[in-house]
Amino acid sequence: MEPVSAASRVIQGQGTCEAQWQAWPALHALPQIGLAGLVPVGVRAVIVAPHPDDEVLASGGLIAMLAARGDPPLVIGVTDGDASHPGSTRWSPEELAAFRHEEALTGLGRLGIEPQNYLRLSLPDGRVQAHHAQLVESLVRVLRAGDAVLSTWAADGHPDHEATALAVSVACAAARCPHWQSPVWLWHWAAPGDRRVPWAQLRRLRLTPDAQRRKHLAVQAHASQLTAQDNGAPPVLAPSAVQRLLRPFEYFFMPLPGRRAGAGESGA
Ligand SMILES: [Zn+2]
Repeated sequence: MEPVSAASRVIQGQGTCEAQWQAWPALHALPQIGLAGLVPVGVRAVIVAPHPDDEVLASGGLIAMLAARGDPPLVIGVTDGDASHPGSTRWSPEELAAFRHEEALTGLGRLGIEPQNYLRLSLPDGRVQAHHAQLVESLVRVLRAGDAVLSTWAADGHPDHEATALAVSVACAAARCPHWQSPVWLWHWAAPGDRRVPWAQLRRLRLTPDAQRRKHLAVQAHASQLTAQDNGAPPVLAPSAVQRLLRPFEYFFMPLPGRRAGAGESGA
């Protein structure tokens, strides 16, 4: 198939509704992976989130299950999410960065993660691609061979999500770590059976009831993203988006040695 261009994956409006996804039989037939298949016992997981809240939306249940197992992951926040409220009279970017950092710590606390397991890189929100080399360098410094590394997906449709995945894939190749990629905005811009998505590489993790409960609570910690903005814009995370991301499963594209999941991969 043709390589997927970022312009074709537009995040606007309400996106594909959850009822459509649930009505697609192939969603319920995706192969399952167990917790130990994703992150073997005793292995450190490193979760790389472009913005505060992506760690919860993409993999909050996984984080809770790892914490419950006694293997709390290291969570790396790439940006402080300070560009989520453009034109706000309530928040300066600095205030928003501080507030969203606190939201991230509160959310992670609800997943069982201590503040010392959160590494804040504070790259500029919306400009991760321009800081590729700096991000790769920061990641290489932290990663250890054998870590199981997870990030957003390289074709997720949000420039920071894609740039983060690319930097993580470079760092993982250098550090010899498997790299799993978790979609966030795929569920918004794609449609069931969408040929732009490499469905055959997608695995799903069933969340325990406790992990589901903790994930719900952790999402609520990100109040700045769940409420209407003072410039009249709707919430960054509309109820429809939250609904799509609170399934009892989380989804991960498998590591591909020497290849990058996402743009250019053939659909299935
Ligand atoms: Zn994000």
